[in-house]
Amino acid sequence: MKINTAIVSTPDVNTEGFKALGVAVHRASTIVFDDADAYATRGQRGPEGYSYGLYGTPTTRTLEHKLTLLEGGARTFLVSSGQAANAFAALSLLSAGDRILITDACYPPMRDFADQDLARLGVEVGYFDPLSPADLEGRIDGRTRLVWCESPGSTTMEVHDLPAIAAIAKRHGALVGCDNTWATPLNFKPLAHGADIVTEGLTKAISGHSDVLMGSITVKDMALAEPLRRTLGRFGVGVSPDDAALVLRGFETLAVRMRQSRENADALMAILGRHKAVARILHPSVEGSPGHEIWKRDFLGASGVFGVVFAPDASVHAAASLDVLETIAIGASWGGTRSLVAPMPVKAFRSATRWEGPDLVMRFGIGLEAIEDLEADVSALLAEIDRRMSAQ
Ligand SMILES: *Cc1c(COP(=O)(O)O)cnc(C)c1O
Repeated sequence: MKINTAIVSTPDVNTEGFKALGVAVHRASTIVFDDADAYATRGQRGPEGYSYGLYGTPTTRTLEHKLTLLEGGARTFLVSSGQAANAFAALSLLSAGDRILITDACYPPMRDFADQDLARLGVEVGYFDPLSPADLEGRIDGRTRLVWCESPGSTTMEVHDLPAIAAIAKRHGALVGCDNTWATPLNFKPLAHGADIVTEGLTKAISGHSDVLMGSITVKDMALAEPLRRTLGRFGVGVSPDDAALVLRGFETLAVRMRQSRENADALMAILGRHKAVARILHPSVEGSPGHEIWKRDFLGASGVFGVVFAPDASVHAAASLDVLETIAIGASWGGTRSLVAPMPVKAFRSATRWEGPDLVMRFGIGLEAIEDLEADVSALLAEIDRRMSAQ
C-alpha cells in the first residue's frame, strides 16, 4: 500500500474484549459493500439493513429501538425535530381529498403546518374539542383519514379520552396519531390506548439538556412503517449520529429528572394556587384541571410542565413581571435541567372551541434547581404582580 492510500484508509483494530456501556457514534454518509452483488441487492436489505447513511447507522438505530420498545410499537423513525415528527407523520399518510381532524389544543406550529401546507396539498383540515369525543363524532366522516391528538394539549393541558377517540376513529376507518411530548413514554403509552402513531419531541424531556433538536415517529404496526420510511427517504430526512448519541445519553436519566422536576413543580403549583392573583393551575395532576380524571385513569405519571391562568386584573401585568426572575429563565423549549417560563397567547390558536378567560397562559417548565431558589423566584413574581396592580 502506497502512502497516500494508507493516509485515506482506516486500519483495522482489535475490538475483542471492548465492551462499553455508552453507545458508539457511527458516522457515515456512504456505506460500502463487500462485493458487487451486495451492492446490487442493497435495496433488499429491509428496514433493519444498512444501505446509506441517511437511512440509519447503528447509533440512530439504537435510539430508534429504545423508543420502539418503550412506546410498545413496531418501528420508530428519527427526524430533525418534534415538529418534523408531527408534520411527516401527517404528510406520509394524507393525500389530496383526505381530511385530517386535529385537536384544538395542538402544538401551534402543527396547526400552522396543517392550515398552510396540508391545505395547499388539497387536504381538508378541521379541528375538534380535545375534551369531547362527542364533538369529534359530530365532525368525523368517511373522508377523515387521520385524527391528530396531543395529550395533554399544549399550554392549556386538556387530557384526551384517547380510547374513546380511537374507538370513534376506528369506526370511521381513520388512523389516530398522538403527540406524546409532555408525558414521554415513561408516563403515557398512546399506542396501548388506541393510537396507531405516536410522536415525541425528543428535544424536550427525553434529551433533557436543552442542547439538541430531534423528534421521533413510532408506528404500531409494520404496515404503517413502510409508507413512512419511503416518504422520509424521498424528502431526504435523517438525523446525525452525534445528535442521536446526545439524546441517548440524556435519555438514561429521564426517570430521575422527571421525578425531580415534577416534585419541584408540585411545590411551585402549591404556592401559585394559594395566591389571589392566580385563577387556575393547568396541570393534569391538579383537581379541576381539564381531563384530570382521565389522567388518573390512563397515565403513569406527570412532567413538571404546567400552565397558570391569572385573574383578569393580574393577567395584564404577568408578562412584564417576569423581569424580576433570577433563576427561572424566559424561554420556550422546556424539558431541560433549567426551569423556563413563557407567556403563551391562546385565543388565536383556537377554532373549534372558545378559550374563556384571559388570553395569556403562563407556561412553566420546571427543572432541577434547588426548590428554595425556585420558590423565591415565584414569590418575587407574585409580589411584582401585586405591586403593579396596586400601583395602577
Ligand atoms: C416542543 C414541542 C414540539 C416540537 O418539538 P421541537 O423539537 O421543538 O420541534 C412538539 N410537540 C409538543 C407538544 C411540544 O411541546
